[in-house]
Amino acid sequence: MADQIAKAQVAQPCGDTIFGKIIRKEIPAKITFEDDRCLAFHDISPRAPRHFLVIPKKHIFQISVAADDDESLLGHLMIVGKKCAADLGLKHGYRMVVNEGAVGGQSVCHIHFHVLGGRQMNWPPG
Ligand code: AMP
Repeated sequence: MADQIAKAQVAQPCGDTIFGKIIRKEIPAKITFEDDRCLAFHDISPRAPRHFLVIPKKHIFQISVAADDDESLLGHLMIVGKKCAADLGLKHGYRMVVNEGAVGGQSVCHIHFHVLGGRQMNWPPG
């Protein structure tokens, strides 16, 4: 818990993030999908045999501050996530999750969907 909060506290709530640099191609990432609204790329520190992130190009800090107008964009991220999961062959299931804030374990302050698969997921996640 303390580790998670410390990790989240290094996030920059109002500024640019590492994901902004990935969107602008200022730093490399293993991008597997891109359109005008979003990107999907492999997580640099995978927590499962398959672990990728889907992020909007619009900088929404976190789910708790998403606006009603973001509904279609957030739905799009989920649809892209499920298509990318299918492309990776995750036909027996996977987990799609959003971490919110310090207690939720969020460390990068640019909303993102994690998609994890390739092993049995546990519940509760801890
Ligand atoms: P969260 O802790 O929910 O905010 O998730 C942030 C995720 O971003 C973590 O799983 C990190 O491993 C991942 N991450 C951080 N920097 C990079 C990067 N440069 N490329 C890909 N994934 C990254």
